[in-house]
This record gives sequence, structure tokens and C-alpha cells, in this order.
Amino acid sequence: MDMTDQPGALRFLERWVRRAVVERVEDVTRRMRRVTLAGEELAGLAWAPGQQVRVLFRDPTHVRFWLSPREFGDASRTYSLSSYDPDAGRYELIMLAHDGGGPGARWARDVRVGDRIAVGAPEGKFLARVPSPYHLFVGEETAAVCFGAMLRALPADERVLGAVQADTPEDHLALPRGEDLLRVERDGASASPSTALVDAVRSLVLPEEPGTAYLAGEAKTIQAVRRQLLDERGWTRASILTKPFWTPGKRGLE
Ligand SMILES: Cc1cc2nc3c(=O)[nH]c(=O)nc-3n(C[C@H](O)[C@H](O)[C@H](O)COP(=O)(O)OP(=O)(O)OC[C@H]3O[C@@H](n4cnc5c(N)ncnc54)[C@H](O)[C@@H]3O)c2cc1C
Repeated sequence: MDMTDQPGALRFLERWVRRAVVERVEDVTRRMRRVTLAGEELAGLAWAPGQQVRVLFRDPTHVRFWLSPREFGDASRTYSLSSYDPDAGRYELIMLAHDGGGPGARWARDVRVGDRIAVGAPEGKFLARVPSPYHLFVGEETAAVCFGAMLRALPADERVLGAVQADTPEDHLALPRGEDLLRVERDGASASPSTALVDAVRSLVLPEEPGTAYLAGEAKTIQAVRRQLLDERGWTRASILTKPFWTPGKRGLE
């Protein structure tokens, strides 16, 4: 994937497409892999924990990439930055190799050290609001990645509550401040919507006043938890941040 010597229109690609090499691949849970990407073009970027990057699974300089909108639309997926080292130019992603197919899951399954890939710069507004009376994190495996980055960056005196869900106990990602979060499992039940996660949030003992809620991951579960906070707990819309990552039947939600 060589974007040097590209004249004219393609040069604008360089503003948002960055070349990287896969430096490391590790299994962190039964179905999740930490993938470290490195490259000079990843250095010195602005990043806040909670932000995501686009990963392009096809060569964006190939003419077919632009002539076929369907191919273009299906060529990239979004992943949270688990961590970012601006000095070294290193992105760390944690990708779920889910059973639903799709270019993201396939790449996560097949990726090897030395593979080349194109990625975007960090973006997004799903960021911790500091200070807050407390922070309520709710989501499943995919959401745990950005929660990890956000939790790591929270000042120690900021209170953390929440519920994180995975399919089985072995599927939970280790999280900073994990002792403050209720862990629940689906045990093979549907993640869309996950009644186990909605019930787990209902069971949490929360302070009377709202804090800031961060709801991420499967879209229908997010909506159910949001409704619960609004209708049953009297939270305001402004105190709830939502970020749908995926839902059955939809490809590449963002
Ligand atoms: C802002 C943002 C941050 C994200 N961060 C992460 C992250 O850090 N790690 C991560 O793994 N994912 C993350 N995701 C989710 C990821 O982008 C989606 O899961 C994406 O759909 C996967 O692409 P795909 O090509 O594998 O499947 P697609 O082609 O997009 O989807 C095909 C089908 O697979 C199924 N499917 C998709 N995702 C899942 C899933 N997670 N579990 C079960 N079934 C699924 C659905 O039925 C879907 O119709 C993030 C998404 C967004 C928007």
C-alpha cells in the first residue's frame, strides 16, 4: 500500500489515511485480540481516552476503492484506541473476532505481525466528563475497550460505578478499577438486547443524584439501559452519553 508519489486528488488521502504495520498480536480473552500498530504517520496525533479510529481493510489508493461505493462502504470499520503512544507512533486496538462475519472480525482472526494496514487519526466525542458526581459505565465486550482507556485516565478521586457484560467469565477484559464494576455474563443468550445487562444496571445501588453515564456497545441494549435511567431513575438526557457500536443485521455502524 504505497501512497507516496500520488499526485493531485489522492494526496488528500494522506490527511486522514495513515500507514501502519502490525507490530504485535496477542490473545487477551477467548475471542479478543490486542493488535499493536506502529508507524511514523501515527506519531504526534491528538488523542483523548474514549476516542476511536477507522481501520481500512482495503487499499484506499486503488481506483476500485473509489469507483465502487459498495466496496468503499464495506472496506472500513471503527475501533476504539485501547491506548496510544504519540512518541512511538503506536496504536493499540482490542478487536472482537465475533461469529457474525464481516471484514473486521475476519481481519481480527487472520492478522499477523508484519501485515500492513491503513488507519485514520483518533476522533470522537465519547469522552469522560471530569469532574462528575460519579461515572456509570455500561456495556459489553466491545465497549470494555474504550472503558479501559477512559478508566485508566480518570483521576483516582472520581467515583466509578457500572456493569460490564461478556458472554462467559473467560470473555471479560481486565479493566482498571474493575472492582468498582459489576460483572455479568450472557451465558450464550442474545446480546441484542441483553436483558442480563439491563437487569444488572437495575440492580445497581446508585446515589440519588445522577452522575454521568457512558453507554456503549450493542445498540438495542444501550437504548434499553438509557430508557431505564430516564424512566426509572429520573436521569436527564444530558447526563447520558451513548455510543452504539454494532447491532445484528447492520454492517459497520459508523
Ligand atoms: C466508535 C466505535 C468503537 C468501536 N470499538 C470497538 C472495539 O474497540 N473493539 C471491537 O471489537 N469492536 C469495536 N467496535 C465495533 C465494531 O466496529 C463492529 O463490531 C463492527 O461491526 C465489526 O465489523 P465486522 O466487519 O466484523 O462486522 P460487520 O460487517 O459490521 O457486521 C456483520 C454482522 O456481524 C454481527 N456483529 C457485528 N459486530 C458484532 C459484535 N461485536 N458481536 C457480535 N456480532 C457482531 C452483526 O450481526 C452484523 O450484522 C466499535 C464501533 C464503534 C462505532
